[in-house]
Amino acid sequence: MTPSASAAFPPALLDADALRADFPILGERVNGERLVYLDSGATSQKPRAVIDAEVDFLTRANSAVHRGAHTLAAEATELFEDARATVAGFVGARPEQLVWTSGATAGLNLVAYAIGNASIGRGAPASAPYALRAGDEIVVTESEHHANLIPWQELAARTGAVLRHIPVRDDGTLDMDAAAAVIGDRTRVLAFTHVSNVLGIVNPVDQLVALARAAGALTVLDACQSAPHLPLDLPALDVDLAVFSGHKTLGPYGIGGLYGRSAVLESLPPFLTGGSMITTVTLDEASYLPPPQRFEAGTQPVSQAIGLAAAVRYLDGIGMDAVHAHEKALEARMGEGLRAIPGVRLLGDAAGAERVGLWAFEVEGVHAHDVGQFLDARGVAVRVGHHCAQPLHRRFGLTASVRASTQLYNTADDVDVFLDALSGVRSFFG
Ligand code: PLP
Repeated sequence: MTPSASAAFPPALLDADALRADFPILGERVNGERLVYLDSGATSQKPRAVIDAEVDFLTRANSAVHRGAHTLAAEATELFEDARATVAGFVGARPEQLVWTSGATAGLNLVAYAIGNASIGRGAPASAPYALRAGDEIVVTESEHHANLIPWQELAARTGAVLRHIPVRDDGTLDMDAAAAVIGDRTRVLAFTHVSNVLGIVNPVDQLVALARAAGALTVLDACQSAPHLPLDLPALDVDLAVFSGHKTLGPYGIGGLYGRSAVLESLPPFLTGGSMITTVTLDEASYLPPPQRFEAGTQPVSQAIGLAAAVRYLDGIGMDAVHAHEKALEARMGEGLRAIPGVRLLGDAAGAERVGLWAFEVEGVHAHDVGQFLDARGVAVRVGHHCAQPLHRRFGLTASVRASTQLYNTADDVDVFLDALSGVRSFFG
């Protein structure tokens, strides 16, 4: 019997059955079963529009951007810069506020290394507010993905800064009393995730930004798990810098975005240097283009940028409010069903929390990897392991968990198939 409280929850709001036809891979069968893809938190599936946009570019217009005097180069440049405007608009930004990166990890490293350069007086005035001196503090949360943790550990080690963290409470929410105590006069950078990739809870960006502003600290937002699921207006959130990932947002691999407030991007020194980011170069020194090109050394992921623009156009066509509402309905159905299965412990089951469609959990007495394999045999794809968040798992006394995460193409039936399969796990491993 399916343990989901189907009657208590409205069916998912979008016509996901129709939308699924846009995603060729969802027609695949896995282990003889219909594919139930609940691993979009790791990487989303791509609609035909994205695949076609990349193929079309490579077939008709492929050429190096920005430099050529020929027709194809002009066309490629136009498509590339149009893609920038489209993706910037998706997060409420202007084109010059969007730097292409190869992904969120690359964007966060770019920021950390650029701050490191400013801290040794390279390319930014020594008075830059984010320049770090020994004893200055960088603050993160206990729930960060390693991509928003290790670059800051490295930066602290290079500059003598101290890395501090905001703890997570038992219910998965951030301890905001502790945040108010941790963020203070010595804080130069506050880097935090909008939505944890394990807990699925939307963090209180406004309160965190207010604490950072009062301390004069730079804010860096990891929007990897919010950009694909929520309407996002980064300037309105008032963060200084933010990253997101193309491959989690229905787009291709190898592309991501770094948003920056104009004043911050203009003051930040480059990280990678080389071709395409300079105005003049002598044998002794170089001067740099303004943002975003200052941060885009070398050949850029052009077809991927065009693919990501197609992805956000697709999302905008549906409407991010509708995507969020659809996923909330799936999340509620899944959460209720998971709570009803004996031996399942949810991570981050905070009452009344604003969430995206993502639940991580442990099954008493069964290793997460065994749960994953058991579900896979029934065509259900979930994530198992520490999800690149070892400190958070340690905080909950775990080394691994199972994570089921949704996108607009998931249906209420997907959730029920997953819950039904999961309810048999403990008796199977008995
Ligand atoms: N931050 C979070 C919250 C994530 O979930 C991920 C990917 O799992 C990343 C950062 C890294 O993103 P990317 O794969 O684009 O480097």
